[in-house]
Amino acid sequence: MGKYYFPKTDYRLATIKIELLEASGIKGVLLDLDNTIVSEDDRYLSPGAEAWIEQAKLAGFKFYILSNGKRRYRVKYWSYRLDIPAINPAKKPFPFAFRKAIKAMKLRPKQVVVIGDSRHTDVLGAWLVGCPSIQVATLPHPFRWWEKLFGKRVQTPYPIEHELEHFDVNSYKT
Ligand SMILES: [Mg+2]
Repeated sequence: MGKYYFPKTDYRLATIKIELLEASGIKGVLLDLDNTIVSEDDRYLSPGAEAWIEQAKLAGFKFYILSNGKRRYRVKYWSYRLDIPAINPAKKPFPFAFRKAIKAMKLRPKQVVVIGDSRHTDVLGAWLVGCPSIQVATLPHPFRWWEKLFGKRVQTPYPIEHELEHFDVNSYKT
């Protein structure tokens, strides 16, 4: 296998260079939802994420959402809105959901990049199944006890000088 030309960390989905993924032989993306696309308290969207996904689809990339989120209506909503199949609960970092999605995309692990904000779920899970990964900064959200405890060891805070996009939580009702 060739080498990967993209960095292992990035600010957000939209700052990842699609050309570098293509140059590295990537054909599929396993996408985390919470704090990668939308903050788990539903206040913020990752700026430019939807346009980036649209562009990557036009470039021929296949997508799957793997979410550990407990509120299924959110995952359903985003799966529909982004037009991407989802596995929920994905129980990351366990490999089952990763393998299922890779198989459904008819790709090999080396052709699939995992993009998410958490080292202990997204990055670790990718490593366990042999996929490359890109860890993005975590969107602002109320931190849980273990996030406070492990802090930057599992997530990278969203840079304060970077733009944010607000999400209208009423979207879930329509
Ligand atoms: Mg996440």
